[in-house]
Order: sequence, then structure tokens, then C-alpha cells
Amino acid sequence: MRLAPRLSLLAVLGGAAACSINPATGRVQAFLISENEEVELGRKSDQEIMGSMRPYTEAPALVAKVEEVGAKIAESSERPQLPWTFRVLDDPTVNAFALPGGFVYVTRGLLTHLNSEAELAGVLGHEAGHVTARHGAVKLRKTNVARRSVGVFRVVDPGLRHIGGFAAGVAGLALLKYSRDDEYQADDLAVRYVGATGYDTAGVPEVFGVLSDVADSQSRVPAWLSTHPEPELRRDRVAKALGRSGLPGPDPQWMALLGGVVFGRDARNGFMLRNRYVQPRAGFRVDMPEDWTIEVDTSGLVGLAADENALFVLGPSAESTPADALEAFFAETEVARGELWEGNIGGAPAVSSAFSISGGDGSLTGLVAFVLSGSQVVAIIAAAPAEVWPSHADAIATTVASFRPLKDPKLRNVQPTRIELLTLGAQTTLAALNEANPSSIPVVELARINHVTPDEPLPAGRIIKRVEGFNPQAVE
Ligand SMILES: [Zn+2]
Repeated sequence: MRLAPRLSLLAVLGGAAACSINPATGRVQAFLISENEEVELGRKSDQEIMGSMRPYTEAPALVAKVEEVGAKIAESSERPQLPWTFRVLDDPTVNAFALPGGFVYVTRGLLTHLNSEAELAGVLGHEAGHVTARHGAVKLRKTNVARRSVGVFRVVDPGLRHIGGFAAGVAGLALLKYSRDDEYQADDLAVRYVGATGYDTAGVPEVFGVLSDVADSQSRVPAWLSTHPEPELRRDRVAKALGRSGLPGPDPQWMALLGGVVFGRDARNGFMLRNRYVQPRAGFRVDMPEDWTIEVDTSGLVGLAADENALFVLGPSAESTPADALEAFFAETEVARGELWEGNIGGAPAVSSAFSISGGDGSLTGLVAFVLSGSQVVAIIAAAPAEVWPSHADAIATTVASFRPLKDPKLRNVQPTRIELLTLGAQTTLAALNEANPSSIPVVELARINHVTPDEPLPAGRIIKRVEGFNPQAVE
């Protein structure tokens, strides 16, 4: 039953299969690739991910802790010889994922939701389980097949490469779609590895409790939660096997590592104020069309027209001048140049050109612009199918022309919201605490990151996470 999909994939790829016994699961598996190929594929995807996503470097002690716990998990696994690499991503979403070959990623968003090292061991153990059981090795090839079908976006790659979500989506998100059996197997391996490292195995069900609350609260479910089975079911299943459901309370040493860590979206990376995109790091703002759907990323944004027929991408270019960036864009042979424009937008040197791409699925028409903001070249690329381009061209031109330097010092020097720790002097509730000294996030969210309910009595001496700072979402 498990072999059938692999064999059909094999037929599609025409690759050579080898059979071997998986050391983690004890099952015979038909592998499409050798361990060396698996590591090589992982390494390449790791480079793509790290080219589009930022590592979180502001809390070296926290990063060192992730590496330390990760190394212990790797050592206790059946495949300690892999080039295990544990990375912390500067991303507000609650997420963790792994690539074949032992590349494991956790976001700062996930870390700020944890109350103990044992839970961290649970998360890393689960992801390590996917690696040791080789759940991703076959699927990565599948992703490469899928990638060819998005060829039309590949030609816009000079801009898209820096748009984390999109690049990560193309590079790796398909990887995260594990089967229910794969998830249960990774959960069981997590319990095995966490136990072997000496951490409390109750960290595994505890972390699923947290993820279940996160999944309930978000309209956009994190990728690693989007697959069945649901986190509650996974928590109950593991808790039943262990005979315990969770941990007693926060671990003070772990909590100390979270003090000062950025929580939620980092406003310095850009945010929306109504339809205005504000980019403090590069020092500019752009007014997006009112009815477009805008997705702000760690370095730029992706906009989609209301009719979903036009795409707008904005992000940093790797080139040092607008002219160089334009040359790099048109170095792509499939892109045909249109009329070139050179001048200033909002006082900033800029170049712009129409372009078109003819492909099997019909042709795309677009506008590309590169604007110098301080020392950063900003890339703006908009495209639509040729037949509907005229209905979007004006809105896109207006958007590009709205580019202005960011002058307001309050917006330029904006600081992100951060975790602040507090030790309770007397018994209280989060609701009472938040009324006296409000956090920048709603009390329900505060309760979630503390693994309690707002009205639950909390004893004196308990360590609590608060969130302090400017929250652009609260301004909207
Ligand atoms: Zn998983």
C-alpha cells in the first residue's frame, strides 16, 4: 500500500530505484535516490531557502540553544552521520520544517510560543523524524517536477528570488505535505529521540497543545499544520501512549532565552498602514491599489488584483544600480524588452520598461521598474496575461509612481514588538495583569503564548511572557 505511489512516481521520473531497510522505521523502502543525492538535494534547497529567508540573529543564546538541542536529537537518531543543520528563521509564523539530508528549520514565531526546552526537543525531534524516516526524499523530486510547470514565474525570478514566501513556496512547501502515516511516524520518532536525550517526553504532547491553539486562532493555518491529522488528535494520541498530557509549567532557563526576542511581524521589515506599504529598512513607501490583496513578506510584498489576473511583486534587488538591475532582468532570454524610461520617481533615480513573455500558456505583459532608495535598489515587477493587461496598466503605473522616500521619523525608526518577561509577585490572572499593564497584543494571544487561559489563576512566582512595542496591526 505504501509502495504503490512511489512506484508510479518512479515510472513518471524514469529513475532507478534501490531497496533498503530504513534504519529509523525498520521498513523496507524503495528509494529513488542515494543518501549522497539526498544530502545534495537538501543542501541545494537549503541554499535557496537561506537566499530568500533571513536567519534570526538578534538572540545568539537562543540560536545556540536550538543548535545544542538539535545536535543532541541528531546524535540520538539512527542517522547521526548526516550533516545535521538546525536554523532559526526570522519569521513570525509558527512553523518548523525539514529538508532531506538533515536540514531543520524553526521560526522565531514558533520559539516564542514555547515554554520549555523539552517542547523545543519535541519540535526538533518530530522534524528529525521526517528526515531519518526519509519522508521528504521522494517528495523533493516531486517538487522539482512541479517546479517546471511554474516556468512562467521562473522568468521573473530576478525579482521573485527575494520574496521569501514565494521562493520558499516554489522551493519547499510541497515538501511539507506529509501523509497522516508519515506524521504519526514522525511523532513516535520524536518521543523516542526526546526520551533518549533525557528531556521530558511530555514536551511532545505539550507542543501539540500549543499548535492546536495556534491552528484554531489563525485564518491562514501554518503549512506544517495544514495537513491531517489535526494537532489535537496528535496530542491525544501521543499523550495516551505516554500516559501524560503535558508539562507542569514554564522552564525558567528556557524562558530567560526569550526575553527581548521579536514577537510577531517585525515592523522594521515593512508593514501596511491601510493600503500604504511602509518599508522602514530601505526607507520608502508605496500606495497600493485599494482593492488588491497584499501579502507583506520579510523583505517586500506580493499583490494580487481583485480579479486575480495581475500580480505585483516588490522587493530588494541584488544589483547596486537601477540600470544594472534592468540589464540583469533582461538577461533572461525569454523576456522581450518594451519601451525604456529613465528618470526620477519621488526624487529617487529610477528606470522602467515594459516587457512581455511568450510561453506555451499564452503571453504575459508587464512593467518592471528599479528605483534607488538610499543604497538599496528596489525591484518592482507587475505582470498580467496580455489580453487583460490594458485593464490593469493604469492602476499599476499609478502604484509605481506613488513611490516616495519615507520621511516620518516615527515610521523610519519604528521598533518591533518584543517578548518581555515578568515574574508574578502574587496570584493573579492574565486578564487582570493585562488590564493593569496592557500588552501590544490581545489578551487571548497573550494567553496562547503562555499556555494558559486569560481567567486561569496563576500562582505567585510564575514567569509570564508579555509583548511590548509598536504593533502596526493594532493601528490598522
Ligand atoms: Zn510533520
